[in-house]
Amino acid sequence: MPDLAPWLRTSLADLIDQYRVNTLPHALLLVGHPGHGGTLLTDALVAKLLCRADLPQACDDCKACRLHRAGNHPDFVRVQPEGKGQTIRVDAIRAINRKVAETAQQGGNKVIRLEQAEKMNSNAANALLKVLEEPSDGTFILLESSSLGRTLPTIRSRCRLVTLAEPTTNEALAMLVQGDFAFEPAIALGIAQGKPYAALAVTAEQIEQWSECERRFLHPSGFSQLSQFIHRTALDATLKQLMLWVDTAVRRQLSEHGKVVPVTDELIELLMKQPAQSLFDFRDYIVGQLGSINRQSNLNTQLMGEALAARWLDLRGTE
Ligand SMILES: [Zn+2]
Repeated sequence: MPDLAPWLRTSLADLIDQYRVNTLPHALLLVGHPGHGGTLLTDALVAKLLCRADLPQACDDCKACRLHRAGNHPDFVRVQPEGKGQTIRVDAIRAINRKVAETAQQGGNKVIRLEQAEKMNSNAANALLKVLEEPSDGTFILLESSSLGRTLPTIRSRCRLVTLAEPTTNEALAMLVQGDFAFEPAIALGIAQGKPYAALAVTAEQIEQWSECERRFLHPSGFSQLSQFIHRTALDATLKQLMLWVDTAVRRQLSEHGKVVPVTDELIELLMKQPAQSLFDFRDYIVGQLGSINRQSNLNTQLMGEALAARWLDLRGTE
């Protein structure tokens, strides 16, 4: 099992300590974006709950650990969203309920892992309520969600909420640097919006587009060339990149350095010279454009690209 990211170690140690003194609740709702690595914490917790050795973490050697590693542990159930709509349906929850009613075959705990709990439809959620309310001894139900707001309140209220820590920029960069990462970590992290595990999946094409976007916006050679460039790229990716620049510049103006994603200094210095109000207006504009992209399919991206080029040239002013 890979080492757990440093920013998650305290949370895992706390949960395991609670387990070892019998105060770990039977139902946990673990909330965090997968790009921050929270699923690895759940991996480690599941392994520990199934392991039969009395150690601070799973021994990786007992029969239960070996069965789990092979994907064959009879007392572990993993539920994920399925089908075209990627939902968790009531059938999957009924299988959980049957498992909870059985006796553990390996004599240890029964562990249920329900991924993307926010994808449960209301029938599925209703079917799960009973086991959340009346758990059987030695059964742990771990629900994972990337969004607390989208997890049904009836589910939220019956679980202990565990909000998983997010890395600082330095922690995220350190993870990528140590991992023999093929790309410039700061750029990959920028593309992945600061989420290091998402950065691991960044492609060479995305890196190239990101760098070219910086060059073109930093030194635009006129309106028509900039708008043609924008038209050739994925507009939503370009807008998100611009948003990162603006957010970083605003934070620097406010002297906040904590969660800044790395961006070319020259670009940030250019933006920091602009009045804060212009930056906020430009940011509102980007948010509006991203909203349109999410809501509509038949957009005139050429027109949107031209408008964006004009807004950008207006914002940065002439040098
Ligand atoms: Zn073990």
